[in-house]
Amino acid sequence: MSAALVLVTNDDGISAAGLAALAEALARVGDVYVVAPDREQSTVGHALTLHRPLRVDRLGERRFAVNGTPSDCVNLAVLGLLPAEPKLVVSGINHGLNLGDDVTYSGTVSAAMEGTLLGVPSIAVSLAAPDQGSFEEAARIAQLIAMRTLVEGLPPKTLLNVNVPGGRPKGIRFTRLGHRVYKEKVVEQKDPRGKTYYWIGAGPPLWDNREATDIIAVQDGYASVTPLHLDLTHYAALGRLGKWEASLNAQLRPRRPGPRAGSPGRVPAPKAWVRRSTGRRPPGSGA
Ligand code: MN
Repeated sequence: MSAALVLVTNDDGISAAGLAALAEALARVGDVYVVAPDREQSTVGHALTLHRPLRVDRLGERRFAVNGTPSDCVNLAVLGLLPAEPKLVVSGINHGLNLGDDVTYSGTVSAAMEGTLLGVPSIAVSLAAPDQGSFEEAARIAQLIAMRTLVEGLPPKTLLNVNVPGGRPKGIRFTRLGHRVYKEKVVEQKDPRGKTYYWIGAGPPLWDNREATDIIAVQDGYASVTPLHLDLTHYAALGRLGKWEASLNAQLRPRRPGPRAGSPGRVPAPKAWVRRSTGRRPPGSGA
C-alpha cells in the first residue's frame, strides 16, 4: 500500500517556519505536498480568488507557491494540482493562536474549511507566541492528531481546530469555541497629509471566562482540539423561526379581502426570546 497523500498549507506564506516544521513532522505520516500562498495571507478568512488568474510557482517536486489565498491553494491542489486526491489537509502551523470567534477571520482555519467542503478530512494547527518557543511541540501534536484522523476519519463537514500554547503543553484537551468580548475601540488618527484614518482590532482580545473552551484550555497550558462543524444552520432556531413563515407569506401576498392599500397589515407584537429554563413569567401571567 502506498503512503497517504497529505496536503500541507498555511496562511503565513510558503517561507514560514511553521509550515516547514509541519511538513517535516507530517512526512512521517504520509506523502507530503506543500501548496501555500507566496506571501503572508493571515486574516484573509475564506476568500477565494475568482477575478484574476492564479499563478503557480513550482519550487520543488512537491512544493508549490500560489499567488492567492489559503483557500485558493487548497481548492487548486485538491481539484487539479496534486496527482491524486489527498487523504488529509493540514493547515499551519500558524504563527499565533486561532481561538474562539476569531476562527472565521483566520486564513489557517479557512484552509481547513475548504478541505472539509471538498470532502477531505482537514486540520488547522496554530501556536501561541512562536518567537518564544520552537514549533517542535506543536508539530508533534499535529503529527499525532493527523495519524489518528487518517485512521479514524472525521464526521461529515467537521474539521479539527488545534491550538498549542507556548512551551511544553501539559496535555491535550477537547474543547468548544470560546467567545470574544468586544470592548476595544476603533482608533481614529490623522495621517501626515491631514486625512483621517481608522485602525480596527487594536489592543489585546478579551475573552469570556467560561470553562471547557479552547481559550481556557490554552490559558491552562493545554493544547486544545475543537471540532468545528460547517453546517452553520441553527436547527433549533429553524424550528422556532420557521413559524414566521406563514405570517410573512400572508404579509407578502395578502389574501382578499386584504388590508387597505398603504396599510402595513397586521404585525404580531414582538416577543422577547426568554429562555424557558429561567422559569420567569411575564407580569400578569397566571400561576
Ligand atoms: Mn497566519
